[in-house]
Amino acid sequence: MTRKYQELTRRNVRHSSRIELSQSNLKKNINFIKKKIGSHPILSSVVKANAYGHGIYTMVKMLEKCGINHFSVASAFEAEEVHSVCSEDSTIMIMGILYDEDIPWAIENDIEFYVFALPRLKLVLEHAKRLNKKAYVHIEAETGTNRTGMTIPFYRKALTFLKEHEEHIAFQGLCTHLGGAETLANRFRIDQQIDRYKEFLAIAKKRKFMPKLRHISCSASALSMPDTHLDMVRVGIATYGFWPSPDIYYQHLQQVGKTKDSPLRRIFSWKTDVMDIKVVPKGEFIGYGTAYQAATEKHIAVIPLGYSNGYPRGESNRGYVLIHGRKARILGLINMNLFMVDISHIPNVQIGDEVVLIGKQKNMTINVSSFTNYTQLLNTEMMSRLPDAIPRRIVR
Ligand SMILES: *Cc1c(COP(=O)(O)O)cnc(C)c1O
Repeated sequence: MTRKYQELTRRNVRHSSRIELSQSNLKKNINFIKKKIGSHPILSSVVKANAYGHGIYTMVKMLEKCGINHFSVASAFEAEEVHSVCSEDSTIMIMGILYDEDIPWAIENDIEFYVFALPRLKLVLEHAKRLNKKAYVHIEAETGTNRTGMTIPFYRKALTFLKEHEEHIAFQGLCTHLGGAETLANRFRIDQQIDRYKEFLAIAKKRKFMPKLRHISCSASALSMPDTHLDMVRVGIATYGFWPSPDIYYQHLQQVGKTKDSPLRRIFSWKTDVMDIKVVPKGEFIGYGTAYQAATEKHIAVIPLGYSNGYPRGESNRGYVLIHGRKARILGLINMNLFMVDISHIPNVQIGDEVVLIGKQKNMTINVSSFTNYTQLLNTEMMSRLPDAIPRRIVR
């Protein structure tokens, strides 16, 4: 257990809000994804960006309870976070930044990582030899996303190098990332990427030197394109109960012949409590500036968090929270640590009453997506900005 994690759980006072994560809904999501991909491919859970804002430490433990033992992250920094809580037989794979000076750490801890530039292999070999420990690398192919990835001439050289040094470096994977499998209109580009990936595979095959794992799929392609499943899929957003896009959802409905289906469940709720209540006379302004003037007398509740806690400022004068299962509209600007809501229509609100920022209360729900309508943020953008300091709690 890391120091960071201990610090959070050992706190004696309360944070201004809390995040609850549903173990049973996570299980439903994992089961659904597994059903879509069948029994062969490994399901690697992508837990980058603090597990899409859900909280990486808590999510890794919850995912392991669902039988997941492969985790993909964007950086060595995140790999270290997963490593500090995951079980010993779980595998961690870095898809992004690993600095030269951290390569020995990765090798020593059996952390697998992408290699997308040829010179890196020489360095990996040096360290593997010196440490007398095998390195596990995934060669990333450039197939048209044009982020990281090797083009074919470099890849040929990489294969030669790997084959020559098999005892020190394992050719653990050949991978690529699809640039926008969420959108059907982009499918021509995805098809082209798959064709190019097959060229990379064919070269390996010709040399009788195949990677252990072939993997190219993210959530969108895992849910909708069986020919992309191969030996492993790297699933992020769907794990957390979000459809990658409406296109993928409608394609699923077509497949199952239904007009409505909800196999993916949100696992996340964000809650706080009423900090104060008061009556604002007609004509007064609420909060900073003149953003909101009470046209009539208003009963308001003060909510103890603001944009510094990840609540988007774009919700000013627009968004809602739930109190007593009813919508309470935001009045004025979201401040750094506070905002105010209208409770004039909700009787008997008391200090300390539960406030739902995202999630369900009685029969009402606030979705992340309704939330992001106002703010032009992506679901993933809004979620991944939620501070690490907010305590995460597992609920059923
Ligand atoms: C983020 C990421 C994924 C997961 O994408 P989702 O659409 O969230 O499933 C897979 N592969 C790579 C390389 C990524 O960066």
